[in-house]
Amino acid sequence: MRHILVVLLVCLTTLLCWTQEAPRLILIGPPGAGKGTQARNLSEKFKLAHISTGDILREHRKQGTELGKQAAAYMDSGKLVPDELIVTMVAEKLAGDGGFVLDGFPRSEMQAQLLDKMLAKVEHPINRVILLLVPDDELVERLSLRRSCPTCQRTYHLKSNPPKKEGFCDSDGSELIQRKDDKEDVIRNRLKVYHEQTEPVLRHYKDQPGVIEIDGRQSIEQVEKQVEEAVAPKVAR
Ligand SMILES: [Zn+2]
Repeated sequence: MRHILVVLLVCLTTLLCWTQEAPRLILIGPPGAGKGTQARNLSEKFKLAHISTGDILREHRKQGTELGKQAAAYMDSGKLVPDELIVTMVAEKLAGDGGFVLDGFPRSEMQAQLLDKMLAKVEHPINRVILLLVPDDELVERLSLRRSCPTCQRTYHLKSNPPKKEGFCDSDGSELIQRKDDKEDVIRNRLKVYHEQTEPVLRHYKDQPGVIEIDGRQSIEQVEKQVEEAVAPKVAR
């Protein structure tokens, strides 16, 4: 009888620890799927560190750190920053017990392996992987109908959020432009690269911790609700 009680107690304690574990999640999705918006919301709602490699790189460069200088040397010569360097920068940010949301990282299977290795050392493995699914054609439509103001950087969408006066910025009257990044052939190419790099990452996390798929075609609010539900169950209340 006593043995059973001890076993039960151990199980219960383990379960409690597990349920109170902070979310350590990866948010994956194609360009234009709204990852940034969702990551920002999660970060506020669950007090998670929002980690985007773009921001980290900019920060290191701005502060002129050793890692930043190394990265700059690659970027300035038009080369990709090596995985080890990026993972080292991310690792610095992930120190501690807090939860985090990784936005657009890991980008390749190699980065995923390096990240896992590093998190295994501190026994804080990734415990959620969320994929925002949006079909390529829809993304092309979303992005190719986007127009930007060269003066204030405000963006419009010709269908869902058009300017009051066609072709001109509501805020300052500047003539709107279509950014090079938002032209169809450029978008298609970015999507091709995304699929090639991301599929191995999804396979990598398929069983552990598993990949939660969310339909990114819904409204921002609906996506937000489902993403929160996917993150919430294990959060301490
Ligand atoms: Zn403007």
